[in-house]
Amino acid sequence: MVYKRSSELFVEANKVIPGGVNSPVRAFKSVGGTPIFVKSAKGPYLFDEDGNKLIDYINSWGPMILGHAHEPVINAITERAKLGTSFGMPTELETKIAELAVSMVPNIDKIRFVNSGTEACMSAIRLARGYTKRDKIIKFAGCYHGHSDSFLIQAGSGAITFGSPNSPGVTEGTAKDTLLANYNDIENVKALFEANKNEIAAIIIEPVAGNMGCIPPKAGFLNALRELCDADGTMLIFDEVMTGFRLAKGGAQELYNVKADIVCFGKVIGGGLPVGAFAAKKEIMDYLAPIGPVYQAGTLSGNPLAMAAGYEMLKELNSDKDIYKRLEEKTAYLYEGIHKVLSDKEIDFTINRVGSMISVHFDKNEVYDFETAKKGDNDSFKKFFHGLVKEGVYIAPSAYETWFITDALSYEDLDFTINAINKVVSNL
Ligand SMILES: *Cc1c(COP(=O)(O)O)cnc(C)c1O
Repeated sequence: MVYKRSSELFVEANKVIPGGVNSPVRAFKSVGGTPIFVKSAKGPYLFDEDGNKLIDYINSWGPMILGHAHEPVINAITERAKLGTSFGMPTELETKIAELAVSMVPNIDKIRFVNSGTEACMSAIRLARGYTKRDKIIKFAGCYHGHSDSFLIQAGSGAITFGSPNSPGVTEGTAKDTLLANYNDIENVKALFEANKNEIAAIIIEPVAGNMGCIPPKAGFLNALRELCDADGTMLIFDEVMTGFRLAKGGAQELYNVKADIVCFGKVIGGGLPVGAFAAKKEIMDYLAPIGPVYQAGTLSGNPLAMAAGYEMLKELNSDKDIYKRLEEKTAYLYEGIHKVLSDKEIDFTINRVGSMISVHFDKNEVYDFETAKKGDNDSFKKFFHGLVKEGVYIAPSAYETWFITDALSYEDLDFTINAINKVVSNL
């Protein structure tokens, strides 16, 4: 495959956009090389600016669960656009999608729409802090909740209780209110509660981690968090930006039968347009402005094009009884195929999978938190990534990312992918 035009476009982009991209992971920094500029996409395929066709396992990092340019969604957007694209006034459509979302997800009465997953998580912790009148939050190392200050925190040196900024521009003052814990380590969380009694507003967690590769919660871990929260008057926030409407209609709450106090959404809920949302029981949501004291707002929040796309997407997922079963079966098929290929070649690997989230780690030991995720062999991953691109398969350009399976993938596409992997790993 040739990437002449992508390379040229990247040079031009770099002159006017920092790093040539509007979100860092697109820049290929962790795998090297030049990012691929996409021209269009349809179903499971990407078509780039050089005319290459790639099977897509990123799917806009999750939203395109039914494949690219899905007709009902595209039609909803185009029809809606003709009626005007933004008003800054309420529309009936906002109530329609809110009613549908509330009916699909357990344990929520009301939902507020924002424009990104970042905004959803940022607003959710403000609400939790306002509601509990406490400042501190617990987050888990390796979980991503968007780029707002309170989440760009790494483990502080020495002390287990304080976080420290992991980006310049985040203040020490902000960092001290974010406590870091290890994913799947309940004793660690207990210790944080003991050291900060009646001070923790919320635990925020990806109920299935997807931003350090895919990492499932250990059996009972989410339940144990629920119990710790109940015992201390702390809110449990599920960041379901990735898992919401993907693992099940009701997301991880449904899959694991654990109740969260606040749930954050993004990605799938916007059907490919910029949408985020956060939701909870009525008493909690009514703590928001304009009826409650916690302020939160957005000029383009509930934008009609975004709501039209999201509503159509949720309707499809809600009415298709077999959708989650099909996604599960396709992803399990891919899992088996990759597992066999890598085993036959005697490569050290671990594959994690939950529903239609899957990731391949080049390490033979179990991957269950950020530390174990970091042990993967990145040189192998780089070769794996570039080899797959050559074969026409596009996975995320980082070893720390989950692959997202779309319902548009056929079993032929999956076989093509497994064969491509077989070819690539023969040269690892
Ligand atoms: C993608 C993601 C976010 C951030 O959403 P953006 O729309 O990129 O701001 C937050 N949390 C999780 C779990 C995510 O996967």
